[in-house]
Amino acid sequence: MSEQVEHTVGAGPGLHVADRDRRQAMAQALAGAVRRGELSLHYQPQVDLRNGTMYGVEALLRWHSPEFGAVWPAEFIPVAEQHELIVEIGDWVLRRACEQAAAWRRAGVGHLRVSVNVSAHQLAQGDLARRVQEALLDAGTPPQLLGIEVTETMLVLDAARAARELHALRAIGVQISLDDFGTGYSNLSLLRALPIDVIKIDRSYVDDVTAAPNQVSITRAVIRMAHSLQMKVLAEGVETEGQLALLVSGGCDAMQGHCFSPALEAEAIAELWHARPVFDAPCLQRGGPRQRTVLLVDDEESILASLRRLLRRDGYRILTATSAAEGLLQLAGNEVDVIVSDQRMPHMTGVEFLRRAKQLYPDTVRIVLSGYTELESITAAINEGAIYKFLTKPWEDQLLRANIDEAFRQKAMADENRRLSRQLHDANEELAGLNERLTEALATEHERTQLVETGLGGAVDMLIKLPGALLGVDEFGCVSFVNREAEALWPARPPLLGQDASSALPPALAPLLAEPEDCGRTFENDGVSYHCRIRVLRDGPSCGRLLLITPLASLQEPGS
Ligand code: C2E
Ligand code: MG
Ligand code: MG
Repeated sequence: MSEQVEHTVGAGPGLHVADRDRRQAMAQALAGAVRRGELSLHYQPQVDLRNGTMYGVEALLRWHSPEFGAVWPAEFIPVAEQHELIVEIGDWVLRRACEQAAAWRRAGVGHLRVSVNVSAHQLAQGDLARRVQEALLDAGTPPQLLGIEVTETMLVLDAARAARELHALRAIGVQISLDDFGTGYSNLSLLRALPIDVIKIDRSYVDDVTAAPNQVSITRAVIRMAHSLQMKVLAEGVETEGQLALLVSGGCDAMQGHCFSPALEAEAIAELWHARPVFDAPCLQRGGPRQRTVLLVDDEESILASLRRLLRRDGYRILTATSAAEGLLQLAGNEVDVIVSDQRMPHMTGVEFLRRAKQLYPDTVRIVLSGYTELESITAAINEGAIYKFLTKPWEDQLLRANIDEAFRQKAMADENRRLSRQLHDANEELAGLNERLTEALATEHERTQLVETGLGGAVDMLIKLPGALLGVDEFGCVSFVNREAEALWPARPPLLGQDASSALPPALAPLLAEPEDCGRTFENDGVSYHCRIRVLRDGPSCGRLLLITPLASLQEPGS
Protein backbone atom coordinates (compact mmCIF):
# COMPACT_ATOMS: atom_id res chain seq x y z
CA MET A 1 0.00 0.00 0.00
CA SER A 2 2.72 2.43 1.08
CA GLU A 3 4.72 1.43 -2.02
CA GLN A 4 1.78 2.30 -4.16
CA VAL A 5 1.45 5.71 -2.47
CA GLU A 6 5.17 6.33 -2.89
CA HIS A 7 4.93 5.33 -6.54
CA THR A 8 2.00 7.68 -7.19
CA VAL A 9 3.70 10.59 -5.47
CA GLY A 10 6.91 9.93 -7.38
CA ALA A 11 5.20 9.55 -10.74
CA GLY A 12 3.08 12.69 -10.51
CA PRO A 13 5.72 15.40 -11.00
CA GLY A 14 7.64 13.05 -13.33
CA LEU A 15 4.67 12.83 -15.68
CA HIS A 16 4.20 16.55 -15.45
CA VAL A 17 7.77 17.17 -16.52
CA ALA A 18 7.43 14.66 -19.38
CA ASP A 19 4.31 16.45 -20.49
CA ARG A 20 6.07 19.84 -20.37
CA ASP A 21 9.05 18.45 -22.29
CA ARG A 22 6.75 17.05 -24.96
CA ARG A 23 5.02 20.40 -25.36
CA GLN A 24 8.39 22.16 -25.56
CA ALA A 25 9.69 19.72 -28.18
CA MET A 26 6.42 20.01 -30.04
CA ALA A 27 6.70 23.81 -30.08
CA GLN A 28 10.16 23.52 -31.63
CA ALA A 29 8.94 21.09 -34.28
CA LEU A 30 5.88 23.21 -34.97
CA ALA A 31 7.98 26.34 -35.54
CA GLY A 32 9.18 25.07 -38.91
CA ALA A 33 6.10 23.04 -39.81
CA VAL A 34 4.67 25.59 -42.28
CA ARG A 35 7.99 25.94 -44.10
CA ARG A 36 8.52 22.16 -44.28
CA GLY A 37 5.00 21.61 -45.64
CA GLU A 38 3.90 19.41 -42.74
CA LEU A 39 0.54 21.12 -42.34
CA SER A 40 -2.56 20.41 -44.37
CA LEU A 41 -6.24 21.22 -44.27
CA HIS A 42 -9.14 18.82 -44.15
CA TYR A 43 -12.64 20.03 -44.82
CA GLN A 44 -15.86 18.99 -43.07
CA PRO A 45 -19.08 19.51 -45.06
CA GLN A 46 -21.85 21.73 -43.71
CA VAL A 47 -25.44 20.93 -44.71
CA ASP A 48 -28.45 23.21 -45.04
CA LEU A 49 -31.26 21.52 -43.09
CA ARG A 50 -34.03 23.16 -45.10
CA ASN A 51 -33.14 21.27 -48.26
CA GLY A 52 -30.24 18.96 -47.41
CA THR A 53 -27.75 20.68 -49.71
CA MET A 54 -24.07 20.81 -48.87
CA TYR A 55 -23.34 24.53 -48.98
CA GLY A 56 -20.02 24.91 -47.21
CA VAL A 57 -17.13 23.30 -45.37
CA GLU A 58 -15.13 24.00 -42.24
CA ALA A 59 -11.37 23.99 -42.74
CA LEU A 60 -9.71 21.89 -40.02
CA LEU A 61 -5.96 21.91 -39.58
CA ARG A 62 -3.94 18.68 -39.66
CA TRP A 63 -0.28 18.31 -38.72
CA HIS A 64 1.79 15.35 -39.74
CA SER A 65 5.09 15.64 -37.92
CA PRO A 66 7.99 13.32 -38.81
CA GLU A 67 8.85 13.32 -35.10
CA PHE A 68 5.39 13.07 -33.45
CA GLY A 69 3.32 11.47 -36.20
CA ALA A 70 -0.22 12.73 -36.76
CA VAL A 71 -1.06 15.22 -34.03
CA TRP A 72 -4.64 16.41 -33.44
CA PRO A 73 -5.41 20.13 -33.30
CA ALA A 74 -6.74 19.74 -29.75
CA GLU A 75 -3.11 19.06 -28.76
CA PHE A 76 -1.01 21.24 -31.04
CA ILE A 77 -3.22 24.36 -31.37
CA PRO A 78 -2.81 25.23 -27.65
CA VAL A 79 0.98 24.72 -28.05
CA ALA A 80 1.01 27.00 -31.11
CA GLU A 81 -1.00 29.58 -29.16
CA GLN A 82 1.24 29.43 -26.11
CA HIS A 83 4.41 29.84 -28.17
CA GLU A 84 2.92 32.53 -30.42
CA LEU A 85 3.24 30.43 -33.54
CA ILE A 86 -0.48 30.58 -34.18
CA VAL A 87 -0.40 33.88 -36.10
CA GLU A 88 1.94 32.49 -38.76
CA ILE A 89 0.05 29.18 -38.86
CA GLY A 90 -3.30 31.00 -38.91
CA ASP A 91 -2.14 33.10 -41.88
CA TRP A 92 -1.16 29.94 -43.71
CA VAL A 93 -4.58 28.39 -42.99
CA LEU A 94 -6.35 31.53 -44.22
CA ARG A 95 -4.40 31.66 -47.47
CA ARG A 96 -4.67 27.92 -48.10
CA ALA A 97 -8.44 28.02 -47.46
CA CYS A 98 -8.91 30.97 -49.85
CA GLU A 99 -6.87 29.21 -52.53
CA GLN A 100 -8.93 26.03 -52.09
CA ALA A 101 -12.22 27.96 -52.32
CA ALA A 102 -10.99 29.50 -55.59
CA ALA A 103 -9.83 26.11 -56.90
CA TRP A 104 -13.23 24.49 -56.19
CA ARG A 105 -14.94 27.41 -57.85
CA ARG A 106 -12.80 27.01 -60.96
CA ALA A 107 -13.47 23.25 -60.94
CA GLY A 108 -17.23 23.88 -60.89
CA VAL A 109 -17.79 22.60 -57.34
CA GLY A 110 -20.83 24.81 -56.67
CA HIS A 111 -20.40 27.70 -54.31
CA LEU A 112 -18.76 26.08 -51.32
CA ARG A 113 -18.09 28.57 -48.55
CA VAL A 114 -14.93 27.68 -46.59
CA SER A 115 -15.02 28.57 -42.88
CA VAL A 116 -11.72 29.11 -41.12
CA ASN A 117 -11.12 28.95 -37.36
CA VAL A 118 -9.18 31.91 -36.02
CA SER A 119 -7.54 32.08 -32.63
CA ALA A 120 -7.58 34.84 -30.01
CA HIS A 121 -4.01 35.84 -30.90
CA GLN A 122 -4.96 36.47 -34.52
CA LEU A 123 -7.85 38.66 -33.43
CA ALA A 124 -5.60 40.52 -30.98
CA GLN A 125 -3.17 41.53 -33.77
CA GLY A 126 -5.68 44.18 -34.81
CA ASP A 127 -5.19 43.67 -38.55
CA LEU A 128 -7.13 40.50 -39.22
CA ALA A 129 -9.50 42.21 -41.68
CA ARG A 130 -6.55 43.44 -43.72
CA ARG A 131 -4.92 39.98 -43.73
CA VAL A 132 -8.21 38.40 -44.75
CA GLN A 133 -8.69 40.90 -47.56
CA GLU A 134 -5.15 40.31 -48.83
CA ALA A 135 -5.63 36.54 -48.76
CA LEU A 136 -8.91 36.88 -50.69
CA LEU A 137 -7.41 39.22 -53.28
CA ASP A 138 -4.29 37.11 -53.79
CA ALA A 139 -6.37 33.96 -54.29
CA GLY A 140 -9.02 35.71 -56.40
CA THR A 141 -11.77 34.47 -54.07
CA PRO A 142 -14.99 36.48 -53.57
CA PRO A 143 -15.56 37.28 -49.87
CA GLN A 144 -18.91 35.43 -49.92
CA LEU A 145 -16.93 32.20 -50.20
CA LEU A 146 -15.11 32.73 -46.92
CA GLY A 147 -16.30 32.39 -43.35
CA ILE A 148 -14.48 33.15 -40.11
CA GLU A 149 -15.14 31.21 -36.89
CA VAL A 150 -14.46 32.85 -33.55
CA THR A 151 -15.16 31.45 -30.10
CA GLU A 152 -17.12 33.00 -27.24
CA THR A 153 -14.08 33.15 -24.99
CA MET A 154 -12.27 35.32 -27.54
CA LEU A 155 -15.11 37.82 -27.52
CA VAL A 156 -15.28 37.97 -23.76
CA LEU A 157 -11.51 38.56 -23.38
CA ASP A 158 -11.46 41.95 -25.11
CA ALA A 159 -14.99 42.72 -26.21
CA ALA A 160 -14.29 46.17 -27.66
CA ARG A 161 -11.40 45.03 -29.84
CA ALA A 162 -13.29 41.93 -30.93
CA ALA A 163 -16.28 44.08 -31.93
CA ARG A 164 -14.04 46.38 -34.03
CA GLU A 165 -12.38 43.46 -35.79
CA LEU A 166 -15.65 41.66 -36.46
CA HIS A 167 -17.28 44.81 -37.88
CA ALA A 168 -14.28 45.28 -40.19
CA LEU A 169 -14.55 41.64 -41.34
CA ARG A 170 -18.29 41.96 -41.88
CA ALA A 171 -17.73 45.10 -43.94
CA ILE A 172 -15.57 43.06 -46.31
CA GLY A 173 -18.49 40.66 -46.78
CA VAL A 174 -17.11 37.63 -44.94
CA GLN A 175 -19.54 35.46 -42.95
CA ILE A 176 -18.91 35.35 -39.20
CA SER A 177 -19.74 32.32 -37.05
CA LEU A 178 -19.59 31.97 -33.31
CA ASP A 179 -18.03 28.56 -32.61
CA ASP A 180 -18.67 26.19 -29.68
CA PHE A 181 -21.66 28.20 -28.44
CA GLY A 182 -22.72 27.12 -24.97
CA THR A 183 -19.23 26.30 -23.67
CA GLY A 184 -18.21 29.86 -22.80
CA TYR A 185 -19.61 32.60 -20.64
CA SER A 186 -21.39 34.82 -23.10
CA ASN A 187 -25.12 34.83 -23.68
CA LEU A 188 -27.14 35.63 -26.73
CA SER A 189 -28.23 39.08 -25.63
CA LEU A 190 -24.59 40.11 -25.07
CA LEU A 191 -23.91 38.97 -28.60
CA ARG A 192 -26.67 41.14 -30.01
CA ALA A 193 -24.26 44.03 -30.51
CA LEU A 194 -21.82 41.89 -32.51
CA PRO A 195 -22.13 41.25 -36.25
CA ILE A 196 -22.54 37.48 -35.99
CA ASP A 197 -24.27 35.59 -38.82
CA VAL A 198 -24.21 32.04 -37.49
CA ILE A 199 -24.25 30.50 -34.01
CA LYS A 200 -22.57 27.10 -33.94
CA ILE A 201 -24.11 25.06 -31.13
CA ASP A 202 -21.50 22.95 -29.41
CA ARG A 203 -21.69 19.15 -29.66
CA SER A 204 -22.61 18.88 -25.98
CA TYR A 205 -25.96 20.58 -26.74
CA VAL A 206 -26.85 18.26 -29.59
CA ASP A 207 -29.36 15.89 -27.94
CA ASP A 208 -30.82 12.60 -29.01
CA VAL A 209 -34.55 11.81 -28.93
CA THR A 210 -34.13 10.11 -25.58
CA ALA A 211 -32.83 13.30 -23.92
CA ALA A 212 -34.81 14.91 -21.10
CA PRO A 213 -37.32 17.47 -22.43
CA ASN A 214 -35.77 20.31 -20.41
CA GLN A 215 -32.40 19.69 -22.08
CA VAL A 216 -34.12 19.63 -25.48
CA SER A 217 -35.90 22.84 -24.52
CA ILE A 218 -32.57 24.62 -23.82
CA THR A 219 -31.29 23.81 -27.30
CA ARG A 220 -34.58 24.89 -28.85
CA ALA A 221 -34.61 28.11 -26.84
CA VAL A 222 -31.11 28.89 -28.15
CA ILE A 223 -32.34 28.29 -31.71
CA ARG A 224 -35.41 30.52 -31.22
CA MET A 225 -33.40 33.28 -29.57
CA ALA A 226 -30.74 33.20 -32.27
CA HIS A 227 -33.48 33.47 -34.90
CA SER A 228 -35.02 36.42 -33.14
CA LEU A 229 -31.58 38.10 -33.33
CA GLN A 230 -31.52 37.39 -37.10
CA MET A 231 -28.78 34.76 -36.69
CA LYS A 232 -28.73 31.31 -38.24
CA VAL A 233 -27.95 28.21 -36.16
CA LEU A 234 -25.59 25.38 -37.11
CA ALA A 235 -25.32 22.27 -34.91
CA GLU A 236 -21.86 20.72 -34.58
CA GLY A 237 -20.92 17.06 -34.21
CA VAL A 238 -24.24 15.52 -35.29
CA GLU A 239 -23.73 11.76 -35.31
CA THR A 240 -27.11 10.01 -35.24
CA GLU A 241 -30.38 10.14 -37.18
CA GLY A 242 -32.16 10.81 -33.87
CA GLN A 243 -30.06 13.91 -33.17
CA LEU A 244 -30.61 15.09 -36.71
CA ALA A 245 -34.38 14.58 -36.52
CA LEU A 246 -34.62 16.48 -33.25
CA LEU A 247 -32.60 19.38 -34.66
CA VAL A 248 -34.72 19.54 -37.80
CA SER A 249 -37.93 19.55 -35.78
CA GLY A 250 -36.46 22.27 -33.54
CA GLY A 251 -35.91 24.58 -36.53
CA CYS A 252 -32.10 24.33 -36.67
CA ASP A 253 -30.80 25.79 -39.97
CA ALA A 254 -27.66 23.78 -40.65
CA MET A 255 -25.43 21.02 -39.34
CA GLN A 256 -22.05 19.36 -39.66
CA GLY A 257 -21.10 15.99 -38.25
CA HIS A 258 -20.23 12.41 -38.91
CA CYS A 259 -23.82 11.47 -39.78
CA PHE A 260 -23.23 13.23 -43.12
CA SER A 261 -19.45 13.21 -43.38
CA PRO A 262 -16.26 13.58 -41.32
CA ALA A 263 -13.56 16.05 -42.39
CA LEU A 264 -12.05 15.00 -45.74
CA GLU A 265 -9.20 16.00 -48.02
CA ALA A 266 -9.98 18.58 -50.71
CA GLU A 267 -10.19 16.02 -53.55
CA ALA A 268 -12.61 13.87 -51.57
CA ILE A 269 -14.81 16.92 -50.95
CA ALA A 270 -14.99 17.56 -54.70
CA GLU A 271 -15.91 13.89 -55.27
CA LEU A 272 -18.56 14.01 -52.53
CA TRP A 273 -20.00 17.18 -53.99
CA HIS A 274 -20.38 15.55 -57.39
CA ALA A 275 -21.64 12.20 -56.04
CA ARG A 276 -23.91 13.32 -53.17
CA PRO A 277 -24.40 17.10 -52.96
CA VAL A 278 -27.73 16.58 -51.14
CA PHE A 279 -28.10 14.76 -47.83
CA ASP A 280 -30.88 12.20 -48.24
CA ALA A 281 -31.74 11.58 -44.57
CA PRO A 282 -35.44 10.65 -44.22
CA CYS A 283 -36.14 13.59 -41.91
CA LEU A 284 -34.98 16.06 -44.58
CA GLN A 285 -37.97 15.91 -46.91
CA ARG A 286 -37.63 17.88 -50.07
CA GLY A 287 -39.59 18.84 -53.14
CA GLY A 288 -43.17 17.97 -54.07
CA PRO A 289 -46.13 18.12 -51.73
CA ARG A 290 -45.50 16.41 -48.39
CA GLN A 291 -47.74 13.46 -47.59
CA ARG A 292 -50.25 14.17 -44.83
CA THR A 293 -49.16 12.13 -41.82
CA VAL A 294 -51.07 10.81 -38.81
CA LEU A 295 -49.49 9.13 -35.79
CA LEU A 296 -51.63 6.59 -33.91
CA VAL A 297 -50.55 5.69 -30.38
CA ASP A 298 -52.23 2.88 -28.44
CA ASP A 299 -50.86 0.07 -26.30
CA GLU A 300 -53.39 -2.34 -27.84
CA GLU A 301 -52.17 -3.69 -31.18
CA SER A 302 -55.70 -4.65 -32.25
CA ILE A 303 -56.92 -1.06 -31.90
CA LEU A 304 -53.99 0.20 -33.94
CA ALA A 305 -54.78 -2.37 -36.63
CA SER A 306 -58.44 -1.38 -36.95
CA LEU A 307 -57.64 2.34 -36.93
CA ARG A 308 -55.08 1.75 -39.65
CA ARG A 309 -57.69 -0.14 -41.74
CA LEU A 310 -60.21 2.62 -41.23
CA LEU A 311 -57.92 5.52 -42.13
CA ARG A 312 -56.07 3.90 -45.01
CA ARG A 313 -58.81 4.82 -47.49
CA ASP A 314 -58.30 8.52 -46.73
CA GLY A 315 -54.80 8.43 -48.23
CA TYR A 316 -52.83 9.47 -45.15
CA ARG A 317 -49.37 8.26 -44.36
CA ILE A 318 -50.00 6.29 -41.16
CA LEU A 319 -47.41 5.84 -38.39
CA THR A 320 -48.08 3.78 -35.28
CA ALA A 321 -46.59 3.39 -31.81
CA THR A 322 -47.52 1.10 -28.93
CA SER A 323 -46.18 3.37 -26.18
CA ALA A 324 -45.57 7.05 -25.47
CA ALA A 325 -41.77 6.54 -25.73
CA GLU A 326 -42.14 4.93 -29.15
CA GLY A 327 -44.46 7.79 -30.13
CA LEU A 328 -41.78 10.35 -29.22
CA LEU A 329 -39.28 8.49 -31.36
CA GLN A 330 -41.70 8.58 -34.33
CA LEU A 331 -42.25 12.32 -33.79
CA ALA A 332 -38.53 13.03 -33.77
CA GLY A 333 -37.97 11.19 -37.02
CA ASN A 334 -41.06 12.21 -39.00
CA GLU A 335 -43.02 15.31 -39.72
CA VAL A 336 -46.40 14.49 -38.21
CA ASP A 337 -49.54 16.58 -38.69
CA VAL A 338 -52.10 14.84 -36.48
CA ILE A 339 -51.61 12.63 -33.41
CA VAL A 340 -54.34 10.34 -32.15
CA SER A 341 -53.47 8.86 -28.77
CA ASP A 342 -55.08 6.49 -26.29
CA GLN A 343 -55.32 7.88 -22.74
CA ARG A 344 -54.65 4.81 -20.62
CA MET A 345 -51.18 3.48 -21.37
CA PRO A 346 -48.45 2.05 -19.14
CA HIS A 347 -45.62 4.44 -18.02
CA MET A 348 -47.17 7.60 -19.45
CA THR A 349 -50.82 8.60 -19.92
CA GLY A 350 -52.05 9.92 -23.25
CA VAL A 351 -52.49 13.41 -21.79
CA GLU A 352 -48.94 13.46 -20.46
CA PHE A 353 -47.64 12.22 -23.81
CA LEU A 354 -49.57 14.89 -25.73
CA ARG A 355 -48.39 17.59 -23.32
CA ARG A 356 -44.82 16.62 -24.12
CA ALA A 357 -45.65 16.47 -27.82
CA LYS A 358 -47.08 19.99 -27.60
CA GLN A 359 -43.90 21.21 -25.92
CA LEU A 360 -41.59 19.67 -28.52
CA TYR A 361 -43.80 19.72 -31.64
CA PRO A 362 -46.30 22.54 -31.06
CA ASP A 363 -47.51 22.54 -34.69
CA THR A 364 -49.11 19.08 -34.43
CA VAL A 365 -52.87 18.76 -33.92
CA ARG A 366 -53.45 16.39 -30.97
CA ILE A 367 -56.49 14.17 -30.31
CA VAL A 368 -57.25 11.81 -27.40
CA LEU A 369 -59.22 8.69 -28.30
CA SER A 370 -60.11 6.85 -25.14
CA GLY A 371 -62.71 4.82 -23.39
CA TYR A 372 -61.33 5.92 -20.10
CA THR A 373 -62.67 9.30 -19.11
CA GLU A 374 -60.74 10.89 -16.34
CA LEU A 375 -62.55 14.09 -17.07
CA GLU A 376 -60.56 16.40 -14.82
CA SER A 377 -57.11 15.86 -16.33
CA ILE A 378 -58.49 15.80 -19.86
CA THR A 379 -60.39 19.07 -19.38
CA ALA A 380 -57.23 20.65 -17.95
CA ALA A 381 -55.21 19.45 -20.97
CA ILE A 382 -57.84 20.81 -23.38
CA ASN A 383 -57.83 24.17 -21.58
CA GLU A 384 -54.06 24.55 -21.79
CA GLY A 385 -54.10 23.70 -25.50
CA ALA A 386 -52.30 20.35 -25.25
CA ILE A 387 -55.35 18.62 -26.77
CA TYR A 388 -57.44 19.77 -29.68
CA LYS A 389 -60.24 17.20 -29.26
CA PHE A 390 -61.31 14.39 -27.02
CA LEU A 391 -63.07 11.46 -28.73
CA THR A 392 -64.49 8.39 -27.06
CA LYS A 393 -64.07 4.69 -27.61
CA PRO A 394 -65.77 2.77 -29.08
CA TRP A 395 -65.87 5.15 -31.97
CA GLU A 396 -68.23 5.59 -34.86
CA ASP A 397 -66.21 5.17 -38.07
CA GLN A 398 -67.70 8.05 -40.08
CA LEU A 399 -67.51 10.45 -37.15
CA LEU A 400 -63.88 9.59 -36.38
CA ARG A 401 -62.88 10.00 -40.04
CA ALA A 402 -64.66 13.36 -40.21
CA ASN A 403 -62.90 14.52 -37.04
CA ILE A 404 -59.50 13.50 -38.31
CA ASP A 405 -60.18 15.15 -41.67
CA GLU A 406 -61.14 18.33 -39.81
CA ALA A 407 -57.91 18.12 -37.78
CA PHE A 408 -55.87 17.95 -41.01
CA ARG A 409 -57.71 20.98 -42.39
CA GLN A 410 -56.97 22.85 -39.16
CA LYS A 411 -53.29 21.92 -39.50
CA ALA A 412 -53.14 22.97 -43.19
CA MET A 413 -54.58 26.40 -42.32
CA ALA A 414 -52.10 26.90 -39.48
CA ASP A 415 -49.23 25.76 -41.76
CA GLU A 416 -50.25 28.28 -44.40
CA ASN A 417 -50.36 31.07 -41.80
CA ARG A 418 -46.93 30.10 -40.52
CA ARG A 419 -45.58 29.95 -44.09
CA LEU A 420 -46.85 33.44 -44.81
CA SER A 421 -45.50 34.90 -41.60
CA ARG A 422 -42.16 33.17 -42.22
CA GLN A 423 -42.06 34.67 -45.70
CA LEU A 424 -42.75 38.08 -44.22
CA HIS A 425 -40.13 37.53 -41.56
CA ASP A 426 -37.54 36.39 -44.13
CA ALA A 427 -38.25 39.41 -46.31
CA ASN A 428 -37.88 41.71 -43.29
CA GLU A 429 -34.72 39.94 -42.24
CA GLU A 430 -33.24 40.30 -45.71
CA LEU A 431 -34.16 43.97 -45.72
CA ALA A 432 -32.68 44.49 -42.25
CA GLY A 433 -29.49 42.69 -43.37
CA LEU A 434 -29.24 44.85 -46.47
CA ASN A 435 -29.80 47.97 -44.41
CA GLU A 436 -27.16 46.94 -41.93
CA ARG A 437 -24.62 46.26 -44.70
CA LEU A 438 -25.49 49.56 -46.36
CA THR A 439 -25.04 51.46 -43.09
CA GLU A 440 -21.71 49.75 -42.52
CA ALA A 441 -20.55 50.48 -46.07
CA LEU A 442 -21.59 54.13 -45.70
CA ALA A 443 -19.79 54.41 -42.36
CA THR A 444 -16.61 52.94 -43.89
CA GLU A 445 -16.88 55.29 -46.88
CA HIS A 446 -17.42 58.27 -44.57
CA GLU A 447 -14.39 57.27 -42.52
CA ARG A 448 -12.31 56.99 -45.69
CA THR A 449 -13.46 60.42 -46.95
CA GLN A 450 -12.60 61.95 -43.60
CA LEU A 451 -9.16 60.38 -43.75
CA VAL A 452 -8.62 61.74 -47.27
CA GLU A 453 -9.85 65.19 -46.20
CA THR A 454 -7.61 65.21 -43.17
CA GLY A 455 -4.71 64.07 -45.34
CA LEU A 456 -5.41 66.77 -47.93
CA GLY A 457 -5.73 69.47 -45.26
CA GLY A 458 -2.40 68.38 -43.83
CA ALA A 459 -0.72 68.43 -47.24
CA VAL A 460 -1.94 71.98 -48.03
CA ASP A 461 -0.78 73.15 -44.61
CA MET A 462 2.67 71.69 -45.27
CA LEU A 463 2.92 73.41 -48.66
CA ILE A 464 1.99 76.76 -47.09
CA LYS A 465 4.76 76.33 -44.50
CA LEU A 466 7.33 74.92 -47.00
CA PRO A 467 10.81 76.46 -46.46
CA GLY A 468 10.92 77.72 -50.04
CA ALA A 469 8.81 80.10 -52.14
CA LEU A 470 6.15 78.15 -54.03
CA LEU A 471 3.71 79.60 -56.55
CA GLY A 472 0.99 77.96 -58.59
CA VAL A 473 -0.21 79.39 -61.91
CA ASP A 474 -3.35 77.86 -63.39
CA GLU A 475 -3.95 76.94 -67.03
CA PHE A 476 -5.43 80.43 -67.68
CA GLY A 477 -2.33 82.20 -66.38
CA CYS A 478 -3.78 83.25 -62.99
CA VAL A 479 -1.84 82.86 -59.73
CA SER A 480 -3.73 80.04 -57.98
CA PHE A 481 -1.46 79.27 -55.03
CA VAL A 482 1.05 81.32 -53.01
CA ASN A 483 2.76 80.04 -49.90
CA ARG A 484 4.14 82.19 -47.06
CA GLU A 485 7.67 82.48 -48.39
CA ALA A 486 6.41 83.44 -51.85
CA GLU A 487 4.20 86.21 -50.35
CA ALA A 488 7.29 87.51 -48.51
CA LEU A 489 9.46 87.71 -51.66
CA TRP A 490 8.03 90.96 -53.03
CA PRO A 491 6.10 92.47 -50.08
CA ALA A 492 5.45 95.92 -51.62
CA ARG A 493 3.19 94.44 -54.26
CA PRO A 494 -0.53 93.74 -53.77
CA PRO A 495 -1.32 90.09 -52.79
CA LEU A 496 -0.49 87.80 -55.71
CA LEU A 497 -3.33 85.30 -55.36
CA GLY A 498 -5.88 85.62 -58.17
CA GLN A 499 -3.83 88.08 -60.28
CA ASP A 500 -2.67 87.61 -63.83
CA ALA A 501 0.80 86.02 -63.42
CA SER A 502 2.51 87.72 -66.38
CA SER A 503 1.71 91.22 -65.07
CA ALA A 504 1.87 90.59 -61.29
CA LEU A 505 5.18 88.67 -61.23
CA PRO A 506 8.56 90.29 -62.05
CA PRO A 507 8.82 90.97 -65.84
CA ALA A 508 11.98 88.83 -66.06
CA LEU A 509 9.86 85.78 -65.24
CA ALA A 510 7.44 86.29 -68.17
CA PRO A 511 9.50 84.33 -70.80
CA LEU A 512 9.81 81.41 -68.40
CA LEU A 513 6.06 81.25 -67.96
CA ALA A 514 5.74 80.77 -71.71
CA GLU A 515 8.17 77.76 -71.76
CA PRO A 516 6.25 74.64 -72.89
CA GLU A 517 8.33 72.16 -70.79
CA ASP A 518 9.85 71.95 -67.31
CA CYS A 519 12.77 74.36 -67.01
CA GLY A 520 15.00 76.20 -64.53
CA ARG A 521 16.61 79.59 -64.93
CA THR A 522 18.18 82.48 -63.04
CA PHE A 523 16.61 85.94 -63.24
CA GLU A 524 17.08 89.33 -61.59
CA ASN A 525 14.61 91.68 -60.01
CA ASP A 526 15.41 94.99 -58.25
CA GLY A 527 19.11 94.00 -58.16
CA VAL A 528 18.55 90.61 -56.51
CA SER A 529 19.24 87.31 -58.26
CA TYR A 530 16.77 84.44 -58.05
CA HIS A 531 16.65 80.93 -59.36
CA CYS A 532 13.30 79.67 -60.60
CA ARG A 533 12.38 76.07 -61.36
CA ILE A 534 9.19 75.54 -63.27
CA ARG A 535 7.20 72.32 -63.50
CA VAL A 536 4.50 72.11 -66.13
CA LEU A 537 1.40 70.27 -64.81
CA ARG A 538 -0.66 68.53 -67.47
CA ASP A 539 -2.32 65.46 -65.92
CA GLY A 540 -4.47 65.22 -62.84
CA PRO A 541 -6.93 67.68 -61.35
CA SER A 542 -4.57 70.71 -61.45
CA CYS A 543 -3.22 71.96 -64.81
CA GLY A 544 -0.81 74.87 -65.13
CA ARG A 545 2.62 75.56 -63.67
CA LEU A 546 4.36 75.20 -60.33
CA LEU A 547 7.15 77.71 -59.61
CA LEU A 548 9.82 77.17 -56.93
CA ILE A 549 11.77 80.42 -56.46
CA THR A 550 14.99 80.71 -54.48
CA PRO A 551 16.71 84.05 -53.84
CA LEU A 552 20.34 83.22 -54.69
CA ALA A 553 21.81 85.62 -52.15
CA SER A 554 20.03 83.76 -49.41
CA LEU A 555 21.70 80.51 -50.50
CA GLN A 556 25.03 82.05 -49.59
CA GLU A 557 23.82 83.36 -46.24
CA PRO A 558 24.59 80.33 -44.03
CA GLY A 559 28.20 80.20 -45.24
CA SER A 560 28.91 83.97 -45.18
P1 C2E B 1 -14.11 23.11 -33.90
O1 C2E B 1 -13.82 24.33 -34.68
O2 C2E B 1 -15.27 23.14 -32.98
O3 C2E B 1 -14.22 21.93 -34.93
C1 C2E B 1 -15.09 20.86 -34.81
C2 C2E B 1 -14.37 19.62 -34.32
O4 C2E B 1 -15.32 18.58 -34.13
C3 C2E B 1 -13.36 19.07 -35.31
O5 C2E B 1 -12.31 18.47 -34.55
C4 C2E B 1 -14.14 18.00 -36.02
O6 C2E B 1 -13.34 17.02 -36.65
C5 C2E B 1 -14.94 17.45 -34.87
N1 C2E B 1 -16.17 16.78 -35.32
C6 C2E B 1 -16.93 17.11 -36.37
N2 C2E B 1 -18.00 16.30 -36.47
C7 C2E B 1 -17.94 15.45 -35.43
C8 C2E B 1 -18.79 14.36 -34.99
O7 C2E B 1 -19.81 14.05 -35.56
N3 C2E B 1 -18.38 13.72 -33.84
C9 C2E B 1 -17.25 14.05 -33.18
N4 C2E B 1 -16.94 13.36 -32.08
N5 C2E B 1 -16.43 15.06 -33.58
C10 C2E B 1 -16.78 15.74 -34.69
P2 C2E B 1 -10.78 18.71 -34.88
O8 C2E B 1 -10.53 18.70 -36.34
O9 C2E B 1 -10.00 17.76 -34.04
O10 C2E B 1 -10.54 20.19 -34.36
C11 C2E B 1 -10.64 20.49 -33.00
C12 C2E B 1 -10.56 21.95 -32.75
O11 C2E B 1 -9.27 22.48 -33.09
C13 C2E B 1 -11.54 22.77 -33.58
O12 C2E B 1 -12.81 22.72 -33.00
C14 C2E B 1 -10.90 24.14 -33.50
O13 C2E B 1 -11.22 24.76 -32.29
C15 C2E B 1 -9.43 23.81 -33.50
N6 C2E B 1 -8.90 24.01 -34.87
C16 C2E B 1 -8.92 23.18 -35.93
N7 C2E B 1 -8.34 23.77 -37.00
C17 C2E B 1 -7.96 25.01 -36.61
C18 C2E B 1 -7.31 26.12 -37.26
O14 C2E B 1 -6.99 26.11 -38.46
N8 C2E B 1 -7.06 27.24 -36.50
C19 C2E B 1 -7.42 27.31 -35.19
N9 C2E B 1 -7.14 28.46 -34.50
N10 C2E B 1 -8.05 26.30 -34.55
C20 C2E B 1 -8.32 25.16 -35.24
MG1 MG C 1 -14.81 25.63 -35.74
MG1 MG D 1 -16.84 23.97 -32.51
